[in-house]
Amino acid sequence: MKEGLVYIVGAGPGDPSLITVKGRRCVRQADVILHDRLIHPGVLAEARPNAVLVDAGKRFGHEDQQQAEIHSLMIKYAREGNVVCRLKGGDPFIFGRGGEEVAVLRAAQIRYEVVPGVSSFTAAPAAAGIPLTHRDYTHGFLVITGSRSAGFDTAEWRAARDLLKAGGTVVVLMGLARLETISSSLIESGCDPNTPAAIVSRATWPDEQVRLGTLDGIHKQAAGLSSPAILVLGNVIAFGQDG
Ligand code: SAH
Repeated sequence: MKEGLVYIVGAGPGDPSLITVKGRRCVRQADVILHDRLIHPGVLAEARPNAVLVDAGKRFGHEDQQQAEIHSLMIKYAREGNVVCRLKGGDPFIFGRGGEEVAVLRAAQIRYEVVPGVSSFTAAPAAAGIPLTHRDYTHGFLVITGSRSAGFDTAEWRAARDLLKAGGTVVVLMGLARLETISSSLIESGCDPNTPAAIVSRATWPDEQVRLGTLDGIHKQAAGLSSPAILVLGNVIAFGQDG
């Protein structure tokens, strides 16, 4: 029996033409595709007609249960000798639990390869015309999760606050549902309420929307926007507005 193999592939932020050439080759080659919920149908259309497509995002149960199921499906299909494509949104190693998937494959001694993807943390600001760095404004940026599971009293959030106070750029993923809490926490800890802010919703999808504002009011501007969305904070946004 042929030896199985798992490709852990980043599908990019949405637009099906933003998957890498190598990622598309993996999709075309796969016997089994285990994909996240937000993968454009145009990417999945590249699969072989007899490939098995499993929507790993549609499964029931708690997130941890779902993740455990993805792990066991990857192992099962690979041990049966299949080429498995684990297709994940953006880049597989940015907040996507890709690290856990690799650890599981390593422990199971299954061959794997990670194929990087265009992450939304760079694609969403770029699509909105916001450069994350700019010679005249900021020389670095920080990417952080705003999800409920992470509190604000962490080294990363402290670094984010310091960077914002210094005029730097902070990109927040998974923060749409908690925008008001995020901005009030930043303002309470000394960030300027007038810090430029932008929300990019569904970047690179046909219904992409961008809202510009300031830290103190961005949650109001973002009302009604759909997920996934990214929050960008910092002076580079002013550059995006001018430009
Ligand atoms: N691995 C993914 C991120 C997974 S976490 C990547 O590299 O992009 C999911 C978060 O990504 C969402 O909550 C949102 O903040 C962001 N995101 C993913 N796709 C997006 C898109 N098309 N537009 C805006 N934000 C997006």
